[in-house]
Amino acid sequence: MLLLRTDPLAPDRDVIRVAVDALRRDGIVAAPTETVYGLFTHAQSDEGCAKVFKAKGRPPDNPLIVHVNSVEMAETVGYIPDELVDVLRRVWPGPITVVVRSRGVVSRCVTAGLDTVAVRAPAHPIPLAIIRELEAPIAGPSANKAGRPSPTTAAHVVEDLDGEVDVIIDGGPTFLGVESTIIDVTKKPPVLLRPGPFTVEELEKYFGHIEVPPVARGLAEADVALAPGMKYRHYAPSTPLIIIHFDLKEAAKDLKTRGVRVAVLCAMGRCADADAVIQMGADLYEVAKNLYKSLRDLDRLGVDVGLVPAIEEMGLGLAVMNRLRKAAGHREARNIQDLLRALPNKQ
Ligand code: AMP
Ligand code: MG
Repeated sequence: MLLLRTDPLAPDRDVIRVAVDALRRDGIVAAPTETVYGLFTHAQSDEGCAKVFKAKGRPPDNPLIVHVNSVEMAETVGYIPDELVDVLRRVWPGPITVVVRSRGVVSRCVTAGLDTVAVRAPAHPIPLAIIRELEAPIAGPSANKAGRPSPTTAAHVVEDLDGEVDVIIDGGPTFLGVESTIIDVTKKPPVLLRPGPFTVEELEKYFGHIEVPPVARGLAEADVALAPGMKYRHYAPSTPLIIIHFDLKEAAKDLKTRGVRVAVLCAMGRCADADAVIQMGADLYEVAKNLYKSLRDLDRLGVDVGLVPAIEEMGLGLAVMNRLRKAAGHREARNIQDLLRALPNKQ
């Protein structure tokens, strides 16, 4: 395994060539994007794609995102609706993935056998340079073990995938910190599949009305959202995490008097005294950027439980809350009674 460092804004050509050589030989390469680190294969390589799934431990029915450097390249992979060609020229490169009908040219492993394909142009010089040099699209998910928080630094990639990747390019911390927004444009109106840095409010200026189903908010079913740990976990720390919809100080204090060791993940000025405190950030952008690092840090503290304040689901807050809900395994508390029910030893 090669670990190569380069300037994210002016990538070293030799580093890019090493990565491209590995991709041409059906190898896999971890590299930063503007959102999180990706684990890439040549999009047409069955063998490379199989290696991505194996390294991640990812279920084979969960498809990868195809990364291109232009709308023209996207059109070689999927059928871009005519009315979206100009729209995509305006929003790419950027953290917005569209699901379109597939032309069937990328590996079936990449699309998990679906007749649709997810495609985007990343706003990061490193993957863009790789795609240009390879003269072909690359495909990848986030470069973490399945179920773990996504990596926002090369050190996170090494933590999860040491020895299982051919090349890791260290281009420093990623710029945004949460995965791309995904919309399904085969539907009218388009449906939000995953909220991300490109907010729904902003997207609607380009795509018109977008439908936001409960699942995109991270609510598996609204009624069971308060039940602890019932739905599948994702982006998950090992330490139980609980989302607090009431006074954070009151929650932390109550648990402390019961002898529970608590870490508080502070966000947007909401914080509390606890056995450990993780500062996620004063504004939504900082919180998004530090989210996955904070979830990884939580596991290093040796506490019984982590508490995080609920974030308003507006703008980037929708993306942050979707990740928090999955990381918390849907443990959310609106009062002390909920909190006690959500405690791991009370299950
Ligand atoms: P990751 O960024 O690691 O979460 O992986 C890529 C994401 O894209 C996953 O959430 C996939 O479910 C999603 N995805 C990829 N292709 C498709 C598709 N054809 N339809 C719907 N979602 C897709
Ligand atoms: Mg992922």
